Amino acid sequence: MSELNAVQAYAKNETNCRFFFDKLCEILRCQTVSADSRHAGDMEKCADWLARFGREHLGMAETKVVPTEGHPCVIMHSPELPDAPRVLIYGHYDVQPAEDTELWHTEPFEPCLKDGVLYGRGTSDDKGQFFVWLSALKTLWAVNGSYPLNITVMLEGEEEVGSAHFASVLEAHSQELKSDVVIISDTNSVVKGVPILHYSLRGVMCFEVRLRTADCDLHSGIHGGVCSNAPREMAKLIAKLHDENSHVTVPGFYDGVLEIEPWEKERLEKVPFDGEEYSAQLGAELYGEAGYTTNERRWFRPTLDCNGICGGYTGEGSKTIIPAFCSAKFSARLVAHQQPQHIMDCLEKWFKDNTPSRAKMEFVRGDMTSPYLLEQSGVGAKLFAAAQEAVRRGFGTEAIVCRNGGAIGVVAEFDRVLGVPTLLLGLGSPDDHTHAPNEKFEMSNFYSGIVAGAELLSILSQELKNR
Ligand SMILES: [Zn+2]
Repeated sequence: MSELNAVQAYAKNETNCRFFFDKLCEILRCQTVSADSRHAGDMEKCADWLARFGREHLGMAETKVVPTEGHPCVIMHSPELPDAPRVLIYGHYDVQPAEDTELWHTEPFEPCLKDGVLYGRGTSDDKGQFFVWLSALKTLWAVNGSYPLNITVMLEGEEEVGSAHFASVLEAHSQELKSDVVIISDTNSVVKGVPILHYSLRGVMCFEVRLRTADCDLHSGIHGGVCSNAPREMAKLIAKLHDENSHVTVPGFYDGVLEIEPWEKERLEKVPFDGEEYSAQLGAELYGEAGYTTNERRWFRPTLDCNGICGGYTGEGSKTIIPAFCSAKFSARLVAHQQPQHIMDCLEKWFKDNTPSRAKMEFVRGDMTSPYLLEQSGVGAKLFAAAQEAVRRGFGTEAIVCRNGGAIGVVAEFDRVLGVPTLLLGLGSPDDHTHAPNEKFEMSNFYSGIVAGAELLSILSQELKNR
C-alpha cells in the first residue's frame, strides 16, 4: 500500500473518525468567548488543552502557550527538518458570544450532532475548521511518525475581538514563525459541500467626520434662515461622495484598483448565483456601481459607505433648533492594490476641500486593514494547484475559486510582518450561521477536509521543495 493510501485509510477509519469527533467536541464545550472577561479562565483552559493535544497527539514537543496582554496564543512546532519547506497553519480558538440562548435550538456550548450536522458555537468559526488541520496532522503523525515538512501551528484567542495583540506576537516570534506559506481555514464557501479558495480579500478603513456650524444650537424662530444647519451640510457632503452611477467622486479613490481580468470573469461565471434569490434573502433591492455585476461589486470593487449619522435633536416631541453639530462615521472597503494610507489622505483632503467655509470640519482617522491578493502566478499558482489536487482527493470535486469581500486582519499581518503568502481554504458552508444563533458545521466537510488537509501537506512537501 502506498503512503498516501495509508494516510487516507487512517483518516477514514471509523475509530479514528470517532476520536477526531470526540476531541473536537471537547474544545467546543470550552466557553471561549473572548469578548467576555468572565470567560478568561475558559480561554486559558482551552489554550492549555490545545497545547497538550499538540504534545500528546501530534508529536509537537516544542509547544507553548504565549501569554499576551489579552488572551493567550498557542504556538507549536513539529520536529525540525533542516532544508524542508515550512508551513504555518493558523486558526482561532475564541468564539463569538452566544448569550441569546432562547434563539438557539440546542445548547450553544454542548455540541449536538443531528443528521450529519454538528450544532454549537464555534463549530464552523473556527474550531471545527482548524480542528480539521489538527486531525490531518494527527493522521500524518500516526501513520508516518514524522511530517513531510516543517509544521508550525498558531492558534489565536482574540480573532473575534480584533486581534489586538496578534501583530506583537508575530513580531516577537518572527524568526520561528517565518514560513513558506500560511494556511487558514476560516471562511465559508458559496456552495454547500464544496470548499472555496479565496485568492483576494478586501481591506477596510474607517473614519469619522465632525462638522460644526455654530458655537451652539440656535433658535430657529430667531435665527432660522440666516445661518447654516450642520446635519444639512453633512447630508450634502454625503450625497456628493457618489455620482449618479454610484462611482465614488473622491479624486484618487480608485488609485491602484486592479481591473477584473478575463480569467477572473470566467471563474466568476462558474460561481452559482441567483440575483433574485439573493435580493429576496436580504429583503433589499440590488443596486450599485454602474458597469459591474453584483458579485463584481461585492468582491472586486471598492466601496465607500456612511455607517451612521448623528446630530441635532432626536428626542421625544420636537425642538425647534438649527443644530450646530453633526458627526458621521464612514467606512471604505478597499481592493488590491489600493493603499489604505493614501486613500485616507485623499478622503481627508476631499472633506477639507468640500466643507463650506461656514463650517468647521474635523477628520478623525480610524482603523485600517490592507487588502490582500495572492497573485495567481508563481508561488500563488503553485499553491492553488496543490490545493485543488488535495481537494479533489478529499472531496472528489474542485474547490470554487474566487475573491472575498471581507477583510481578515491576520492575513494582512502575516503579509506585512512575515512577508508570507496565505492560502485561504474555506471549509464552512454558506448557511453555517457563523456569529449567529444555531451555528453549525457539516461533518462531511470535516471528514473530507481531514483527508484533503493531509494530502495537501504531502503535496506541498514536494511542490515547495524547489522554491
Ligand atoms: Zn473566524
